[in-house]
Amino acid sequence: MDGKEYVQKVLSTVQKRNLGEEEFLDAVKEVLTSLVPVFDRRPDFIKAGLLERLTEPERAISFRVPWVDDNGEVQVNRGFRIQFNSAIGPYKGGLRFHPSVNQSIVKFLGFEQIFKNSLTGLPIGGAKGGSDFDPKGKSDNEVMRFCQAFMSELYKYIGSNRDVPAGDIGVGGREIGYLYGYYNKLKGVSEQGTLTGKGLTYGGSLARTEATGYGLVYFTEEMLKDHNLSFKDKKVVVSGSGNVAIYAIEKATELGAKVITCSDSNGYILDENGINLDVVKEIKEVRRGRIKEYLKSVPTAKYVPDFREIWNVKCDIALPCATQGEINEKSAKALVENGVIAVSEGANMPSTLDAINVFLSNKILFGPSKAANAGGVACSAIEMSQNSIRYSWTFEEVNNKIKNIMINIYNNSKNAAKEYGNEGNIVVGANIAGFLKVAEAMMAQGII
Ligand code: GLU
Repeated sequence: MDGKEYVQKVLSTVQKRNLGEEEFLDAVKEVLTSLVPVFDRRPDFIKAGLLERLTEPERAISFRVPWVDDNGEVQVNRGFRIQFNSAIGPYKGGLRFHPSVNQSIVKFLGFEQIFKNSLTGLPIGGAKGGSDFDPKGKSDNEVMRFCQAFMSELYKYIGSNRDVPAGDIGVGGREIGYLYGYYNKLKGVSEQGTLTGKGLTYGGSLARTEATGYGLVYFTEEMLKDHNLSFKDKKVVVSGSGNVAIYAIEKATELGAKVITCSDSNGYILDENGINLDVVKEIKEVRRGRIKEYLKSVPTAKYVPDFREIWNVKCDIALPCATQGEINEKSAKALVENGVIAVSEGANMPSTLDAINVFLSNKILFGPSKAANAGGVACSAIEMSQNSIRYSWTFEEVNNKIKNIMINIYNNSKNAAKEYGNEGNIVVGANIAGFLKVAEAMMAQGII
């Protein structure tokens, strides 16, 4: 059996077994198709049933989360933790609290996390979790009660050597604090390495908040440099206004770019003078408000009440930092027609498969999320290291480590693409480079 036949065979089993899980099936298809040249060279991987094992989570936990809201009414949410692969280290990956969360989304994110975490070069396996709980509009007390109810089940399955959750959409410093406090209370321990993204007063790492956004820009800078380009004087469109977007805007601006947009799920802001980050931080980090409020502080800016329209804004570089599937084929074509030179993904899989094809076939420099946004989880692993040695590194030390990791991820992905006959295709390169380390580790450990 050659690589193509093997991949086809596994894909059809995965499709039958995970009916209706579109996001998960798309992610598996994207990764597996790029691995064909690897299997052409490695019949031993085929014999060991590597892909059959890799596409099946080691453990998928789903649980009820009952809690009482401020009106005394009982609410029931659904909680998930998908422990996908632990071949190279303890399961690691964020928790997402958003109404769209379901088993397919958590599985797709967990699957992606395996390769992303491997690409960081650090010893962390892949996992993801979350709930369909919506923190938006909830009081602090409701969020705390929900986090405690969620942890009262999750604590059975996690631990510093077992599975280390962190944040994702809807889970920031506040939620991690409540989750961490309750984990320790239930277990009667003070186990700092069990969650990352912690506050600085109780074991968090400097630069963790900035890590994903900064890392995205370091990766993109390396990709641009490789083609004799830079951020200097470039017009940049950033979507989103959460943690990833905010720090991507900050770093890109520091490197001389002009970032002219940001958005939330309602609409986007266009500020031709360059986004004023102090205003965005005040709205999002302090008031937890909507991005539309930007106009109150900067009346010369424009607000468009449809977030998808953001991809029609003319720019040199696009950094999608909101959520999965936000760039479809039509948006990708609009970006290309308007002369975009690079697209780099801060969110997890923001471009659909069709959109990625549009970018690649038009020779746009494209940084796929599992490579470009790995700075966050890399910093999480650095947080775990600091917790283990009970020491804290300075902002500069952590930031330098992240920068080096992002530069290595770009170069390793680029080299893997070349070695396997797809020069310049970072999508294929990142999949292959991420996969090979996990595959060798699985081979070494036998059929488990
Ligand atoms: N949620 C982030 C991601 O998608 C970070 C995960 C972590 O720090 O464990 O990679």
